[in-house]
Order: sequence, then structure tokens, then C-alpha cells
Amino acid sequence: MKTIGLIGGMTWHSTVDYYRLINEGVQRRLGGASSARCILYSVEFGEFEKLQESGDWDRLTRLMVDAALKVEGAGADLLVICANTMHRTAEAIQAATAVPLIHIADAAAAPIRKAGLKTVGLLGTRYTMEMDFYRRRLEKKHGLMVIVPDEPERTRVHEIIYSELTTGLIKETSRAEYLAIIERLRARGAEGIILGCTEIPLLVKPGDASLPLFDTTALHAAAAVEEAFND
Ligand code: GLU
Repeated sequence: MKTIGLIGGMTWHSTVDYYRLINEGVQRRLGGASSARCILYSVEFGEFEKLQESGDWDRLTRLMVDAALKVEGAGADLLVICANTMHRTAEAIQAATAVPLIHIADAAAAPIRKAGLKTVGLLGTRYTMEMDFYRRRLEKKHGLMVIVPDEPERTRVHEIIYSELTTGLIKETSRAEYLAIIERLRARGAEGIILGCTEIPLLVKPGDASLPLFDTTALHAAAAVEEAFND
């Protein structure tokens, strides 16, 4: 089994789930009291949030590359960025390190393609929904058609992530808002929805809507376990 390197704390609420899911995945394979070999570097997310708001992606990239090098230096055989948004820095990380990075958009796209879906709705932070690092990969590499909520709903999706989910707050009213937004994406042609922020599955579960929901935390953790056993 390879050693999984995690860059987490983005936020710690979803990193807890990564850690649990990865260990459960290894235990399912090996049985007994087996657990995952892994290294976790957990960032100070308050600092990251401010840098995101001010658009300082250069500084964020430097912090992420530094974290990746620490994880690599500690012995990781593969890298997992425990968030969708910070995949904005994935290319720079891959260029600076020798270990393979398991990209979260690839982990999300695999079951969507397997299910034969073509058009997917994407929910995530404003950065994930609007910048091209994530959508372009889904569209160019995986041939998917990606739609995102219109305004003002896109802003609400973003606000709920930062003012509630990243602080650990789960509100029934926000869950209802998300489900209504998902229904509108379905009416616009979405055949499935990518829960493209690792905290969204804390609010909305895959069985909650009338169309398939793709939980990026669970799919990414499963892809990491798969890779850990891939010779
Ligand atoms: N965990 C989040 C994501 O998957 C949002 C927090 C962040 O900005 O990294 O995008």
C-alpha cells in the first residue's frame, strides 16, 4: 500500500471526512484493524480565506506548493488536495513535485461518464464555479457540458459555503435553498450535480434530490485509496 499525502484543513470539517473515508476504504480492502498509511499537512484556513478574497492566488500557490513539498518530503507516494477550490493551484503543485496528484475533477468525472451523463450542474465556491481551472478540465478532458446557477443563486451558493459550512454551521433553511437551486439546474438540463465543494456533502446528501448528486469528498477519497493499491 502506498502512502497517501493529504493537504487538508480546507476546511478541517471536510478533512475529517477524508481521513475517515480513506481509512474505511483501506479497512474494507484489508480487513481487521487495517488502516491507511497517510501524511496530513493541515493549513490555517483563515489565512487562505483572506488571500482568496483578495485574489492573491500567487501567494496561495506558494503556500500550497510549500505544503506539497513538506508532504512529499515526509514520504508521500501520492498527493491529495482536500478541496475543490484549491485545485486552482494543482498545475503548479504537479510541476514542483515528483509524486502524482489525484485531481478531484477527474475523480468526480469518472462516475458521471460511467453513468453516461453528458450535462452536469456544478455547485461550489464562486472560484470553482466561475474560474476555468475546474470547468475546463471537466469539459476538455472529460467531454462534459457544465452548467452553474445563474445570479443571484450563484452568490447564495458561495455565501452559504463561507458563512456557514466552512465554520461548521449546518442550517436546514440553507439545505432547502440548495435543493431548490439543484431543481432549477435540473430544469435547465442538468442530468446530475457535482457537489464541487468538499463541505457541501455535510449539508446535502447524495439521496436528497431527484437526480444523481456526485459527492466530491467521497469520490476523491475513494480515488486516493484506489491509487494507493495500484501498482
Ligand atoms: N472545501 C472547499 C472546496 O472544496 C472550499 C474551501 C476552500 O476555499 O478551499 O472548494
